[in-house]
Amino acid sequence: MAGPCAVEDRDQLLSAARSVASAGASMLRGGAFKPRTSPDSFQGLGVAGLELLREASRETGLPVVTEVMDPRDVAIVAEHAELLQIGSRSMQNFPLLREVGRSGRPVLLKRGNAATVDELLFAAEYVYREGNEQVILCERGVRGFDPATRNLLDLAAVPVLKARTGAPVVVDPSHATGRAALVPAMARAALAAGADGLLIEVHPNPESARCDADQALRPDEFSALMTEFERWAPLLGRTIIRPELELSVGAARKTEGT
Ligand code: PEP
Ligand code: MN
Repeated sequence: MAGPCAVEDRDQLLSAARSVASAGASMLRGGAFKPRTSPDSFQGLGVAGLELLREASRETGLPVVTEVMDPRDVAIVAEHAELLQIGSRSMQNFPLLREVGRSGRPVLLKRGNAATVDELLFAAEYVYREGNEQVILCERGVRGFDPATRNLLDLAAVPVLKARTGAPVVVDPSHATGRAALVPAMARAALAAGADGLLIEVHPNPESARCDADQALRPDEFSALMTEFERWAPLLGRTIIRPELELSVGAARKTEGT
Protein backbone atom coordinates (compact mmCIF):
# COMPACT_ATOMS: atom_id res chain seq x y z
CA MET A 1 0.00 0.00 0.00
CA ALA A 2 1.68 3.18 -1.11
CA GLY A 3 1.03 6.83 -1.78
CA PRO A 4 1.40 10.22 -0.19
CA CYS A 5 0.78 11.03 3.45
CA ALA A 6 -1.88 13.54 2.44
CA VAL A 7 -3.88 14.18 -0.70
CA GLU A 8 -2.69 17.70 -1.59
CA ASP A 9 -4.00 18.38 -5.07
CA ARG A 10 -5.01 16.57 -8.24
CA ASP A 11 -1.59 16.62 -9.93
CA GLN A 12 0.22 15.42 -6.83
CA LEU A 13 -2.19 12.55 -6.21
CA LEU A 14 -2.50 11.36 -9.80
CA SER A 15 1.25 11.48 -10.23
CA ALA A 16 1.79 9.51 -7.00
CA ALA A 17 -0.93 7.02 -7.94
CA ARG A 18 0.50 6.37 -11.39
CA SER A 19 3.98 5.85 -10.05
CA VAL A 20 3.02 3.46 -7.26
CA ALA A 21 0.73 1.54 -9.62
CA SER A 22 3.46 1.09 -12.19
CA ALA A 23 5.91 0.02 -9.47
CA GLY A 24 3.50 -2.78 -8.49
CA ALA A 25 1.73 -1.48 -5.38
CA SER A 26 -1.58 -3.20 -4.72
CA MET A 27 -3.38 -0.30 -3.01
CA LEU A 28 -3.20 3.48 -3.10
CA ARG A 29 -2.93 5.32 0.22
CA GLY A 30 -3.52 9.02 0.83
CA GLY A 31 -5.03 10.97 3.69
CA ALA A 32 -8.01 13.23 3.08
CA PHE A 33 -8.75 13.73 6.78
CA LYS A 34 -5.41 14.23 8.50
CA PRO A 35 -4.77 13.89 12.23
CA ARG A 36 -2.17 16.64 12.80
CA THR A 37 -0.45 17.32 16.08
CA SER A 38 -0.80 21.07 15.56
CA PRO A 39 -4.10 22.66 14.54
CA ASP A 40 -2.03 25.07 12.43
CA SER A 41 -0.77 22.26 10.17
CA PHE A 42 -2.49 21.26 6.91
CA GLN A 43 -5.57 19.29 7.92
CA GLY A 44 -6.26 17.59 4.59
CA LEU A 45 -8.76 18.31 1.81
CA GLY A 46 -11.61 16.37 3.39
CA VAL A 47 -14.33 15.24 0.99
CA ALA A 48 -12.56 16.89 -1.97
CA GLY A 49 -9.59 14.65 -1.16
CA LEU A 50 -11.83 11.58 -1.14
CA GLU A 51 -13.07 12.50 -4.61
CA LEU A 52 -9.51 12.80 -5.89
CA LEU A 53 -8.72 9.38 -4.42
CA ARG A 54 -11.67 7.91 -6.35
CA GLU A 55 -10.47 9.53 -9.54
CA ALA A 56 -6.95 8.17 -9.02
CA SER A 57 -8.40 4.76 -8.26
CA ARG A 58 -10.50 4.76 -11.44
CA GLU A 59 -7.50 5.69 -13.49
CA THR A 60 -5.00 3.24 -12.01
CA GLY A 61 -7.30 0.41 -10.94
CA LEU A 62 -5.82 0.54 -7.43
CA PRO A 63 -8.22 0.28 -4.51
CA VAL A 64 -7.91 3.03 -1.90
CA VAL A 65 -7.00 3.06 1.78
CA THR A 66 -7.62 6.31 3.63
CA GLU A 67 -8.03 7.40 7.23
CA VAL A 68 -11.31 8.19 8.92
CA MET A 69 -11.09 10.12 12.18
CA ASP A 70 -14.66 11.02 13.00
CA PRO A 71 -17.54 8.55 13.42
CA ARG A 72 -19.73 11.04 11.52
CA ASP A 73 -17.48 10.67 8.45
CA VAL A 74 -17.47 6.87 8.29
CA ALA A 75 -20.30 6.64 5.75
CA ILE A 76 -18.78 9.10 3.31
CA VAL A 77 -15.29 7.64 3.63
CA ALA A 78 -16.71 4.13 3.14
CA GLU A 79 -18.33 5.34 -0.09
CA HIS A 80 -14.96 6.44 -1.43
CA ALA A 81 -12.45 3.91 -0.05
CA GLU A 82 -12.14 0.14 -0.11
CA LEU A 83 -10.19 0.02 3.17
CA LEU A 84 -10.80 2.31 6.15
CA GLN A 85 -7.71 3.34 8.11
CA ILE A 86 -7.95 3.94 11.83
CA GLY A 87 -4.89 6.00 12.68
CA SER A 88 -2.60 5.53 15.59
CA ARG A 89 -4.15 8.46 17.45
CA SER A 90 -7.62 6.94 17.10
CA MET A 91 -6.85 3.35 18.07
CA GLN A 92 -8.89 3.65 21.24
CA ASN A 93 -11.67 5.85 19.90
CA PHE A 94 -14.28 3.26 20.76
CA PRO A 95 -17.29 4.92 19.10
CA LEU A 96 -15.21 5.19 15.90
CA LEU A 97 -14.18 1.53 16.12
CA ARG A 98 -17.83 0.51 16.48
CA GLU A 99 -18.85 2.69 13.55
CA VAL A 100 -16.22 1.26 11.17
CA GLY A 101 -17.26 -2.16 12.45
CA ARG A 102 -20.72 -1.45 11.06
CA SER A 103 -19.46 0.07 7.78
CA GLY A 104 -19.15 -3.16 5.80
CA ARG A 105 -15.64 -2.14 4.77
CA PRO A 106 -12.39 -3.82 5.83
CA VAL A 107 -10.43 -1.89 8.44
CA LEU A 108 -6.71 -1.12 8.71
CA LEU A 109 -6.14 -0.65 12.42
CA LYS A 110 -2.91 1.10 13.35
CA ARG A 111 -1.31 0.50 16.70
CA GLY A 112 -1.41 3.48 19.04
CA ASN A 113 2.02 4.89 19.67
CA ALA A 114 1.85 3.93 23.34
CA ALA A 115 -0.46 0.93 23.01
CA THR A 116 0.42 -2.57 24.07
CA VAL A 117 -0.27 -5.56 21.86
CA ASP A 118 -3.15 -6.46 24.18
CA GLU A 119 -4.67 -3.02 23.75
CA LEU A 120 -4.36 -3.29 19.96
CA LEU A 121 -6.11 -6.65 20.02
CA PHE A 122 -8.89 -5.31 22.26
CA ALA A 123 -9.36 -2.42 19.83
CA ALA A 124 -9.72 -4.95 16.99
CA GLU A 125 -12.28 -6.75 19.13
CA TYR A 126 -14.51 -3.65 19.08
CA VAL A 127 -14.63 -3.93 15.28
CA TYR A 128 -15.26 -7.69 15.35
CA ARG A 129 -18.12 -7.28 17.81
CA GLU A 130 -20.05 -5.31 15.19
CA GLY A 131 -19.84 -8.31 12.89
CA ASN A 132 -16.87 -7.07 10.87
CA GLU A 133 -14.11 -9.68 10.82
CA GLN A 134 -12.03 -7.92 8.19
CA VAL A 135 -9.35 -6.25 10.24
CA ILE A 136 -5.73 -5.75 9.18
CA LEU A 137 -3.40 -4.85 12.03
CA CYS A 138 -0.59 -2.35 11.47
CA GLU A 139 2.61 -1.91 13.45
CA ARG A 140 3.85 1.65 12.87
CA GLY A 141 6.28 2.16 15.71
CA VAL A 142 5.75 3.10 19.31
CA ARG A 143 7.05 6.10 21.16
CA GLY A 144 10.64 5.48 22.15
CA PHE A 145 13.22 7.53 24.03
CA ASP A 146 15.54 8.25 21.14
CA PRO A 147 14.88 11.06 18.66
CA ALA A 148 17.22 9.36 16.16
CA THR A 149 14.05 7.83 14.73
CA ARG A 150 10.51 9.23 14.83
CA ASN A 151 9.22 6.12 16.60
CA LEU A 152 10.65 2.80 17.70
CA LEU A 153 9.61 0.09 15.26
CA ASP A 154 8.51 -2.91 17.29
CA LEU A 155 9.18 -5.67 14.80
CA ALA A 156 8.80 -8.38 17.41
CA ALA A 157 5.15 -7.36 17.54
CA VAL A 158 4.76 -8.89 14.06
CA PRO A 159 5.38 -12.54 15.07
CA VAL A 160 3.62 -11.88 18.40
CA LEU A 161 0.49 -10.69 16.59
CA LYS A 162 0.71 -13.47 14.00
CA ALA A 163 0.85 -16.03 16.79
CA ARG A 164 -2.11 -14.52 18.62
CA THR A 165 -4.56 -13.73 15.83
CA GLY A 166 -5.43 -14.85 12.34
CA ALA A 167 -5.53 -11.22 11.18
CA PRO A 168 -3.12 -10.03 8.51
CA VAL A 169 -0.32 -7.89 9.94
CA VAL A 170 1.28 -5.07 8.00
CA VAL A 171 4.15 -2.75 8.88
CA ASP A 172 4.45 0.97 8.19
CA PRO A 173 8.19 1.72 8.05
CA SER A 174 7.51 5.35 7.07
CA HIS A 175 5.88 6.52 10.31
CA ALA A 176 8.05 4.11 12.28
CA THR A 177 11.28 5.79 11.23
CA GLY A 178 10.27 9.25 10.02
CA ARG A 179 13.17 9.28 7.56
CA ALA A 180 13.09 8.15 3.96
CA ALA A 181 16.66 6.82 4.10
CA LEU A 182 15.65 4.32 6.80
CA VAL A 183 12.49 3.05 5.11
CA PRO A 184 14.03 0.42 2.78
CA ALA A 185 15.98 -1.29 5.58
CA MET A 186 12.95 -1.47 7.85
CA ALA A 187 10.70 -2.60 4.99
CA ARG A 188 13.07 -5.50 4.33
CA ALA A 189 13.19 -6.32 8.01
CA ALA A 190 9.39 -6.27 8.24
CA LEU A 191 9.02 -8.78 5.43
CA ALA A 192 11.69 -10.97 7.02
CA ALA A 193 9.78 -10.80 10.31
CA GLY A 194 6.68 -12.16 8.61
CA ALA A 195 4.64 -9.06 7.78
CA ASP A 196 1.86 -9.66 5.26
CA GLY A 197 2.20 -6.22 3.73
CA LEU A 198 3.71 -2.77 3.95
CA LEU A 199 2.30 0.74 4.11
CA ILE A 200 4.80 3.13 2.55
CA GLU A 201 4.61 6.88 1.97
CA VAL A 202 5.59 7.94 -1.55
CA HIS A 203 5.44 11.49 -2.88
CA PRO A 204 6.25 12.74 -6.41
CA ASN A 205 8.29 15.55 -4.88
CA PRO A 206 9.01 14.89 -1.18
CA GLU A 207 10.67 18.27 -0.60
CA SER A 208 7.35 20.00 -1.26
CA ALA A 209 5.14 17.59 0.74
CA ARG A 210 2.69 19.34 3.06
CA CYS A 211 2.82 16.48 5.52
CA ASP A 212 5.57 14.05 6.58
CA ALA A 213 8.02 15.34 3.97
CA ASP A 214 11.09 13.75 5.59
CA GLN A 215 9.80 10.20 5.37
CA ALA A 216 8.35 10.06 1.85
CA LEU A 217 10.16 7.96 -0.75
CA ARG A 218 10.55 9.36 -4.23
CA PRO A 219 8.83 7.27 -6.93
CA ASP A 220 12.16 5.91 -8.22
CA GLU A 221 13.15 4.84 -4.69
CA PHE A 222 9.84 3.05 -4.21
CA SER A 223 10.12 1.35 -7.56
CA ALA A 224 13.66 0.15 -6.76
CA LEU A 225 12.42 -1.28 -3.46
CA MET A 226 9.58 -3.16 -5.17
CA THR A 227 11.97 -4.59 -7.77
CA GLU A 228 14.28 -5.74 -5.01
CA PHE A 229 11.40 -7.40 -3.11
CA GLU A 230 10.28 -9.30 -6.14
CA ARG A 231 13.75 -10.75 -6.45
CA TRP A 232 14.28 -11.87 -2.91
CA ALA A 233 10.85 -12.32 -1.33
CA PRO A 234 10.75 -15.90 -2.72
CA LEU A 235 13.89 -16.66 -0.69
CA LEU A 236 11.78 -16.01 2.41
CA GLY A 237 8.97 -18.13 1.04
CA ARG A 238 6.97 -14.96 0.33
CA THR A 239 5.23 -13.80 -2.83
CA ILE A 240 4.61 -10.20 -3.83
CA ILE A 241 1.02 -10.13 -5.04
CA ARG A 242 0.41 -7.98 -8.06
CA PRO A 243 -2.93 -6.15 -8.21
CA GLU A 244 -4.19 -8.14 -11.18
CA LEU A 245 -4.00 -11.25 -9.00
CA GLU A 246 -6.32 -9.70 -6.39
CA LEU A 247 -9.45 -11.23 -7.78
CA SER A 248 -11.73 -10.26 -4.93
CA VAL A 249 -10.73 -6.61 -5.17
CA GLY A 250 -11.26 -6.67 -8.93
CA ALA A 251 -14.70 -8.19 -8.41
CA ALA A 252 -15.62 -5.60 -5.80
CA ARG A 253 -14.52 -2.77 -8.04
CA LYS A 254 -16.76 -3.94 -10.88
CA THR A 255 -19.79 -3.37 -8.69
CA GLU A 256 -18.72 0.17 -7.84
CA GLY A 257 -21.43 2.71 -8.44
CA THR A 258 -24.19 0.13 -8.67
C1 PEP B 1 -0.74 8.14 8.27
O1 PEP B 1 -0.82 6.95 7.89
O2 PEP B 1 -0.56 9.10 7.50
C2 PEP B 1 -0.78 8.42 9.72
C3 PEP B 1 -1.22 9.58 10.20
O3 PEP B 1 -0.30 7.39 10.44
P1 PEP B 1 -0.30 7.15 12.04
O4 PEP B 1 -1.73 7.16 12.45
O5 PEP B 1 0.35 5.80 12.16
O6 PEP B 1 0.51 8.25 12.65
MN1 MN C 1 1.92 10.41 7.26
